[in-house]
Amino acid sequence: MSESYDFLFKFLVIGNAGTGKSCLLHQFIEKRFKDESNHTIGVEFGSKIISVVNKMVKLQIWDTAGQERFSRETYNALTTWLSDARMLASQNIVIILCGNKKDLDADREVTFLEASRFAQENELMFLETSALTGENVEEAFVQCARKILNKIESGELDPERMGSGIQYGDAALRQLRSPRRAQPEGGQECSC
Ligand code: GDP
Ligand code: MG
Repeated sequence: MSESYDFLFKFLVIGNAGTGKSCLLHQFIEKRFKDESNHTIGVEFGSKIISVVNKMVKLQIWDTAGQERFSRETYNALTTWLSDARMLASQNIVIILCGNKKDLDADREVTFLEASRFAQENELMFLETSALTGENVEEAFVQCARKILNKIESGELDPERMGSGIQYGDAALRQLRSPRRAQPEGGQECSC
């Protein structure tokens, strides 16, 4: 029942309406499909503590709502979503592109290859997911969290910088700060 964690990461789920953002969040948190499609009003919120590498990370996930319709348009709108995200959040944010509704393969309008290329060109991670079957949903969040942890370890992301979207949890604060700067200050060190 402990709420103790090493880091808190803020996640934002963005994309056109109807793409399955709320269902992805629900599947990740509850491990089941949210079948009644009540539209998200404003933002919904979920949080979960996961273990990544050997750290406990609390993901604080914000779901967003929009009015657009869905089809291939949802893919065409990616560039706008990306520039908004990079402009309004940090330049260094970690982004994973989820091609959702993988289970509806017969209705596919964007090939895996096309989306993979887009992801590569725009420096995004990419996974095809299904909020219905649960395929790759956990993986999407975990891969993203793992990349953020790597960036913290390499110094590209600093949890102490305001607006970075990441914070130390109390478990990390009890230890020394990041390993890079782990000069023994008070001699107290814990390797848990
Ligand atoms: P949002 O507007 O992006 O939050 O989209 P919702 O999560 O409300 O989902 C929109 C519709 O797509 C709903 O009818 C969901 O039941 C459906 N949906 C969401 N994810 C999937 C999926 O992975 N597979 C299938 N087949 N339907 C999905
Ligand atoms: Mg929604």
